[in-house]
Amino acid sequence: MKMQLYKARHYEKSENGAVKCTLCPNGCVIVDGETGKCLVRKNLNGELFAEGYGRITSIALDPIEKKPLRMFCPGSMILSVGSYGCSFNCSFCQNYRISQEKTVFKEVSPRQLVDIALDAKCEGNIGIAFTYNEPLTAFEYVYDCAKLARSSGLKTVLVTNGYITKEPMSELLPYIDAMNIDLKAFTNDYYRKLCGGSLEPVKETIALCAKSCHVEVTTLVIPGLNDSENEIGEISSFLASLSPDIPLHLSRHHPDFHMTEPAPITRERLFSLADIARHHLKNVFCGNC
Ligand code: SF4
Repeated sequence: MKMQLYKARHYEKSENGAVKCTLCPNGCVIVDGETGKCLVRKNLNGELFAEGYGRITSIALDPIEKKPLRMFCPGSMILSVGSYGCSFNCSFCQNYRISQEKTVFKEVSPRQLVDIALDAKCEGNIGIAFTYNEPLTAFEYVYDCAKLARSSGLKTVLVTNGYITKEPMSELLPYIDAMNIDLKAFTNDYYRKLCGGSLEPVKETIALCAKSCHVEVTTLVIPGLNDSENEIGEISSFLASLSPDIPLHLSRHHPDFHMTEPAPITRERLFSLADIARHHLKNVFCGNC
């Protein structure tokens, strides 16, 4: 069944038929016929459409710990789905084939997705995780699915870069049960140069969401770029200022996409950074070890 074109929320009309998308802090101004940086929001005749609505590129039943969520429904499974597109263009992206390109997809309506998730309950499934690419750029689809999932007794999880403006995040939050949010580094320079974004909005998203649902945070640690003891201390003390109970995942990167160097951080070094984070936070986990 071909999905209808779905009107986007959160944009302003601009001059000469252009629109300004206000979903994420990129604030793309998009001329007629073009998409924004995330590849999924398109201007058609001066209106913004959620072109990626319902376009699924990957679907799998995963252990919840793989998201990673270590302190939310441990031992359960979650139906994990991804689309394509992203609001960032991280040079080390490990999913760049779906984050930076439009790729082959299958259209799945919210009703169909929730039915697949319900069918998987017999295999231990507790709900739906939007993951693999950046889910918040598919705001309308995630919102519709999460609302339906909630009324069907399923949980909704987001694995996200946290790059969204406050208004849409606040609309979505009542239907979200848990999130893993990347805090990629603690300098704006890192976000600007390596991700094409900025730090402050991500901090604001973490602060907002931690008040409303279960939040865990992931930092991908890259030697020479964000692995100083000072930076890991700043990340963990920022999180502790929100709540010392927020779990932090320090994850080893593996060279990918435009960043084929440096080599991954050693396990020993990662463990010692985790010890620094534990001065501030109760739950610190090492990933990709
Ligand atoms: S959601 Fe997409 S189109 Fe909208 S501002 Fe962000 S990157 Fe641009």
